[in-house]
Amino acid sequence: MSKDNKEKYIVIKKNWCKKCYMCVEFCPKTVFKIGPDGYPDPVDLEKCIECRMCINLCPDFAVIPDPKTLKDFEDR
Ligand code: SF4
Ligand code: SF4
Repeated sequence: MSKDNKEKYIVIKKNWCKKCYMCVEFCPKTVFKIGPDGYPDPVDLEKCIECRMCINLCPDFAVIPDPKTLKDFEDR
């Protein structure tokens, strides 16, 4: 996530997500769809304006904003 030309990044850490769909409901750009497994899927990430609403609202810290954070949390 950044304001430069870096690729946008959002990953849902499924083993932390409880499918409350706050991220789906509140994303101002409807970036998320609910996938066949019932977890939110950031399918339209190119529309993301990097407002961080999904990251800040997720009660389970399951919206991961960058690869390093995902790596840090990988085994938890
Ligand atoms: S807000 Fe968090 S817990 Fe709720 S559906 Fe989204 S990722 Fe899952
Ligand atoms: S950062 Fe904002 S625009 Fe991007 S996916 Fe999250 S809520 Fe949607």
